[in-house]
Amino acid sequence: MTTFTARTPTALTSRNPATGEVVGEVPITPAGDIAAIVARARNVQPRWSELGPAKRARILRPLAQALIDRAEALGPLLSEEMGKPLPEAVGEARQCGEELPTTLDQLVEAFEPDVLQDSKTESIVYHDPLGVCAAITPWNFPLAMPHWSVIPALVAGNTVVLKPSEETPLIASAYVDLVNEFLPPDVLAVVHGADEQGQALVKADIDLIVFTGSREAGKHILNAASATLKRVILELGGKDPMIVLDDADVEAAARFAVRNSFRNAGQVCVSTERIYVDEKIADRFESEMIRLTGEQNVGSGSEEGVTIGPMINLRQRDHVLKQIDDAVKQGATVIAGGGEHPDRYIVPTVLANVTHDMDIMRDETFGPVACVARFREVDEAVRLANDTPFGLGAVVFSGDAERAGAVARRLDAGMIGINKGCGGAAGTPWVGAKQSGYGFHSGREGHRQFTQTRVVSR
Ligand code: NAD
Repeated sequence: MTTFTARTPTALTSRNPATGEVVGEVPITPAGDIAAIVARARNVQPRWSELGPAKRARILRPLAQALIDRAEALGPLLSEEMGKPLPEAVGEARQCGEELPTTLDQLVEAFEPDVLQDSKTESIVYHDPLGVCAAITPWNFPLAMPHWSVIPALVAGNTVVLKPSEETPLIASAYVDLVNEFLPPDVLAVVHGADEQGQALVKADIDLIVFTGSREAGKHILNAASATLKRVILELGGKDPMIVLDDADVEAAARFAVRNSFRNAGQVCVSTERIYVDEKIADRFESEMIRLTGEQNVGSGSEEGVTIGPMINLRQRDHVLKQIDDAVKQGATVIAGGGEHPDRYIVPTVLANVTHDMDIMRDETFGPVACVARFREVDEAVRLANDTPFGLGAVVFSGDAERAGAVARRLDAGMIGINKGCGGAAGTPWVGAKQSGYGFHSGREGHRQFTQTRVVSR
């Protein structure tokens, strides 16, 4: 009789989502080794902490030019592993470098103590390191997401153990190797694996969990963190609405809607997932969307002129196809795209006549699908836009800035863009409302969430 022993895989194989071909492998970190890795990070943390924010920022400053210089080399690996078009992959690495000097300045400023005084007491409010930070990140911006978590944590004086997505371990390792060219040993470590490694890291002796990913995983993490009341920053999923008022520039609104629904194959937390357009301009808006959708090029990220790459994996592709099929069965109309979706891809699809009975208007899609619903009254559009547990971004298009601003203030989202995407100026927070976030990062208040506030009074 032959006995088979189940073997735990020891390597994580990274595959090109456009072809299924192997891009490379990394060793999986045994979950049992994670405590020792965290202990090493804890061991060096006091020395890293002693340096102070300005010195730590000075140590990291050359990383900016290094990211810019190596963007052309990092881009192909990022594109091959994750699937996005090569120019966008190069751009992701370059942008991280270009924005870093300003971010470092803002971090140092955010961590300066505040002095408050009344007639009896003078208090100094310090923003001290917390200790060891676990950064757990997704695959959709596989270099930017680790970067956004790791840099504030480090400048705050924490040491960091990063657990990148199991879909994109190679680019994450390349990023960590690059940052480590400038850091003392053990200040930044990486562990590879899937949920098991993430869960082991959350349970380990860490002080702060900075998580970017799905709402479901965020709930697990919050639950696990509660055992020892670990600090958490959770940046979660979204179902972003876009409202197009009757006085909007229809062409500009449609251009934005197409770009922001299909960019990164719709795999963006602040993708436009629901569009509410005033019925007076809806025909023109939909025609323009159909025209612009026809200009999209689907293909492997390495092909020139491609605007939409493959879906990250078959599970995600199945989820999107099921949402489209179910919506059509419930009465939605495919007005662009649809038909055959080649293996590994979703052809950019525009759905009209969608309603909130459909899963595609409720649960995050994370695929290149634009869903258009019509409204009569602005109140109805606001009610529908807010009819979701998510609250990451939102967008309002209107020719009247004051009117758009008034609608924006009624939307239950953390970031609202008027006639543009929801991302704010340099130094503003990246923040989700409702179930899209719990804690947040960036901006003075966001940076300070990577620290322990401590008050000394006399
Ligand atoms: P995911 O939640 O499946 O995984 C994210 C990371 O968490 C991965 O590294 C994964 O291995 C790990 N993980 C999963 N379950 C875990 C657990 N129980 N404990 C610890 N770690 C665990 O998300 P994904 O598919 O990689 O990314 C897509 C999601 O990320 C979308 O929902 C998207 O909206 C969201 N996202 C949000 C933002 C934001 O800024 N709010 C940015 C990018 C992506």
